[in-house]
This record gives sequence, structure tokens and C-alpha cells, in this order.
Amino acid sequence: MNPMQPAPSHAILLFNGHDLRNWRTRKGEPAAWHVEDSDVTVVPGAGDIVSEERFTDFQMHLEFMTPDMPEATGQAKGNSGVFLQGRYEIQVLDSYGLNIPGKGDCGAFYNQFAPLVNACRPPLQWQTYDVIFRAPRVDAAGQVVEPVRVTVLHNGIVIQNNVQLPGPTGGPIDTNVGEPGPLLLQDHGNLVKYRNIWVLSLPLEGSDTYEPR
Ligand code: MG
Repeated sequence: MNPMQPAPSHAILLFNGHDLRNWRTRKGEPAAWHVEDSDVTVVPGAGDIVSEERFTDFQMHLEFMTPDMPEATGQAKGNSGVFLQGRYEIQVLDSYGLNIPGKGDCGAFYNQFAPLVNACRPPLQWQTYDVIFRAPRVDAAGQVVEPVRVTVLHNGIVIQNNVQLPGPTGGPIDTNVGEPGPLLLQDHGNLVKYRNIWVLSLPLEGSDTYEPR
């Protein structure tokens, strides 16, 4: 079993390994996924879960595990998703062994950008996503003047290199792209597990000196 990567001391731990007190459904009801042994598993039909905390620019780490579904194929095989700011989905899927992943496969920004390489481990193994996210910049009228820029590492390998997203992927919580947003984990009906979910908020601009956190 792969060891957990410890969170930095100043990180916001979104999932404490014991309960989902900081998570809600899209409708604001208590999150009802299954928590056990420091991880949390999708409960099919319970719906997506959404962090109460909202973020603008951030670094995020989480670990996920897809179930073993040897008979399933394509989008029915270990599907879930990690929505950054609740608006931009990095696909979670069992794409292990796929030669040329596309815009719907694991590590894709759904329907926008395929991952650079297939970094997937087999099902039933823990895998990591590390994300560096720069929110879109909007003007006073709410128009985007600089798009989202985001870098994603999958199991330590860069799979999205500072890509500029044209806008939210399908099924966002809203389209208020100038507003901070939560982390959202998708219920796509499959028993995907998550653990060790943490976020570091990042300053919006460069500085000569940074306040200690
Ligand atoms: Mg998905």
C-alpha cells in the first residue's frame, strides 16, 4: 500500500479521516458518503460532496483509488471526478493501461484537455493528484480577462502543464467564475475512494516579502 503524503503544517485539511463535517451535498445537506479507515467512499446515489471551504488560488493534494470493475469499460469504469472551485473537473476513471488517453480519460479536464501521458496505476491502488490552480481574473463587469491556469501532477508526473481552460467543464456548481469556489467530489455511481485531501491557499500576486502563515 502506498504511504500517505503528509500535509504541510499550514495546509487546510479538508477531510480529517473521521467524518464529513466540512462537506455538504450540492443542495447544502449533510454529506452522506461512507467514511472508514481514514478514507471516504462514494455512496452511489448520495450525490456529489462539496467542501464548505472556498478557494481562489491554491495548491491541492488528494489521493484516490478506483474500484476493480473488470467487466466495465469507458466512462462506466471507476468514474468520479475532482471539480476545482466546483467548476473544473479533473476526471477520475480507471484508465489503467490505455495507450493514448483522451479528453474523457483519467487526468483529463473533462472534454477540454487530455492528459499528456497516462500516469494511472491499476485499480485498488492509491494514486495522487497534486494541483496548482490559478483562478481566472475578471474585470469589474465580471468578464474574464485572464483564463484559469492549472497544472496537475498525477502520481508525481505532470499531466497538465499550465493549461488555460476556456471555462467551466460540464456540471459546474455555478458559472460565477470570478468567485472563490469549493472542492467538489463527484458521485458517478462507482465506488471510488478518497483520502488525505488538503489545500494551501496561495497569494493572488507576487510580493517582495510574504507574511508568515
Ligand atoms: Mg467524472
